[in-house]
Amino acid sequence: MTEKKEEIDRAVKEKLAPKQFTKTPINGTKFTILVSSAKGGVGKSTVAINIAFALQNLGLKIGILDADVYGPSLPKLMNLNEKPKSEDGKAMMPLEKYDVQLMSMGFLVDEQTPMIWRGPMVISAIKTMTQKVLWKDRDVIIVDMPPGTGDTQLTFAQEVKVDGAIIVSTPQDLALLDVKRGIQMFDKTGVKILGLIDNMSYFKGDEGKDYKIFGESGVEKTAKEFNKEFLGHLPIHQDLRISADKGDPLTHSDPDHEVSKLFIEIAGKIKRSFQ
Ligand code: ADP
Repeated sequence: MTEKKEEIDRAVKEKLAPKQFTKTPINGTKFTILVSSAKGGVGKSTVAINIAFALQNLGLKIGILDADVYGPSLPKLMNLNEKPKSEDGKAMMPLEKYDVQLMSMGFLVDEQTPMIWRGPMVISAIKTMTQKVLWKDRDVIIVDMPPGTGDTQLTFAQEVKVDGAIIVSTPQDLALLDVKRGIQMFDKTGVKILGLIDNMSYFKGDEGKDYKIFGESGVEKTAKEFNKEFLGHLPIHQDLRISADKGDPLTHSDPDHEVSKLFIEIAGKIKRSFQ
């Protein structure tokens, strides 16, 4: 039994070993940062887009690549639904709004179309979005990853030159279990983890009291356990949801908002960690 386990561990290690792969950089950007979550619904896309605008607030030129080919969120989060143009029929121009360049599978297919794709199709879509988009003059591309540890994660880890990953989670035990899997996947594939973010960490009541709805400090403890940086707590705040639904991220529409200030603080730490 132990021998079998060792055999499986060895096979997994060999399959994931970072040295075997040629990693292609995304052209047109200095840095590429993944925003990842091990579970769906923890607010990863909302955090990714607000971090992107917080980095813009700090003076960086930003691109956002929505790599969730199964459930793209960027068209809704930016209230944008145009088809990207292509001059030669091969490479696409990213869309642009608020000085941020944007690409998503959601711009290419109808919103209602279910993406019933096998692994190789996902890998090919990721390659197109990382190699055939004419990003221009960007300091950072923030990649909004799909949840989990599947084909998209492996393709980025093995085939794209990535400068770091950020993991977003909510603090309850059920989400943290998956975070540990996510950390191990990036560690095994040699992607540097820039830090962990605790989203929906607390809710501030009218009387000023903080309610820790999903438990206390779970993400921070997990970061410590795995010797990773903890980047900060973000509250559950109605304005964050409303701005997301309106298609104008809070850190862009109201950079002085108390929650935007927390995002900008986190963005400052991220900026220092990859530059
Ligand atoms: P994921 O990308 O992890 O699936 P989303 O970013 O789509 O999650 O968020 C799910 C829902 O939760 C959205 O309606 C979003 O507006 C909301 N949301 C995310 N984070 C927060 C937060 N900190 N406070 C309030 N609402 C949030």
